[in-house]
Amino acid sequence: MTGIHHVTAISSDPAATIRFYGDTLGLRLVKQTVNFDDPGTFHLYFGDRTGAPGSILTFFPFPGGRRGRIGTGQAAVTSFAIPMESVGWWIERLGARGIAVEAPVGRFDERVLALRDPDGMLLELVGSPRHADLEGRTQGGIPAEHAIRGMHGVTLWTDGEAPGTEEVLAGPLGFRLIGEHAGTRRFGGDAPLGSVVDLRRADGFWGGVGGVGTVHHVAFRAADEARQLELRRVVEEAGLHVTPVVDRQYFKSVYFREPGGVLFEVATDSPGFLWDEAEPVLGTTLKLPPWLEAHREEIVRTLPALEVEPAEVAS
Ligand code: ZN
Repeated sequence: MTGIHHVTAISSDPAATIRFYGDTLGLRLVKQTVNFDDPGTFHLYFGDRTGAPGSILTFFPFPGGRRGRIGTGQAAVTSFAIPMESVGWWIERLGARGIAVEAPVGRFDERVLALRDPDGMLLELVGSPRHADLEGRTQGGIPAEHAIRGMHGVTLWTDGEAPGTEEVLAGPLGFRLIGEHAGTRRFGGDAPLGSVVDLRRADGFWGGVGGVGTVHHVAFRAADEARQLELRRVVEEAGLHVTPVVDRQYFKSVYFREPGGVLFEVATDSPGFLWDEAEPVLGTTLKLPPWLEAHREEIVRTLPALEVEPAEVAS
C-alpha cells in the first residue's frame, strides 16, 4: 500500500492535546509512551480503533516549548477524512465548542473545512465521496456515521516549483501525480487512508520554523522490513542522506530530509500497537520500551500527570 503511515507534530500541553484530539475530534488515544530520543517528553499516538497505518497522528508535547512558524518547506496542513455528508455536522459541532472554522471550500471533488488546533496547527476535515465506504467508530459523543475515518493527507507548502520533492514522491515513495487545482499539485497513493500529498505553491511566503504548533515529520508506509530496506536503498541512491533503521517498538523507521526540506520517514506496517496492549485498554497506561523500563520511576517523575479514562470500545 502506498500512503502515509503517520504524521508527527509538536504541541504544548499534553492534557490539552488529548482533550482536543481525543474528545473534540474523537480520535482514539492508542498509545501513551515517551519520545525514545528524549524520554522526559511524552509521545502520544492518536488513531482509529487499533491505530492502523494511515489513521495515526502523534504528538511530542513540550509544555512551555518554543513556538514554531508554519511556512514553506513544511508539511503545513494535516487533513482528516470525513464523509462528504458530515461536513455540516462538523461545522455545528466545532461551532458549539467555540472553535472557529472557515466556510467550507471546494478542492478537486472534495469539501474542505479548515480549522486550527489549540496550538495553532493548521488542520482540515475533508469530505470526499471516496470516504463513504470507510468504517467509522463512535467516540467522544461522535456518532460513527460522522466520525473521522483517519488521515486524508498532508499539504506541503513550496516556494516555487519543487521538482526534487516530486521526484521523491513519484519515485521511491510510489505516489503518482493525480491532478492540479488552483496552484496545488496532488500526488496520490493506493491506500484507503492517508493517500494524499498535496504540493501547494506559496511563493514568497516565509519559510517554516519547527516548534510548537507545527508538523515535525511525515511517515510513509512500508509493508515490511524488506520493502523498507529497498526504499532506503533507492532514497540513498538518489543522493539523499538517510538514517539507519531505528526500532520504534510499534514499527521500524528510517528518516531522510526530502529536497524541499520536509523530514520524511518510512515506517513499517508491523508490529503495530496491539503487541504490548490489548485493544480495549490501548493508550490507557504509560508504555515504555525494554531499554527504558529500568528508568520508569524517574521517567514518570519527570512527565506531567495525565488522567486518561479507558477508551470506550465500540460494539
Ligand atoms: Zn514518526
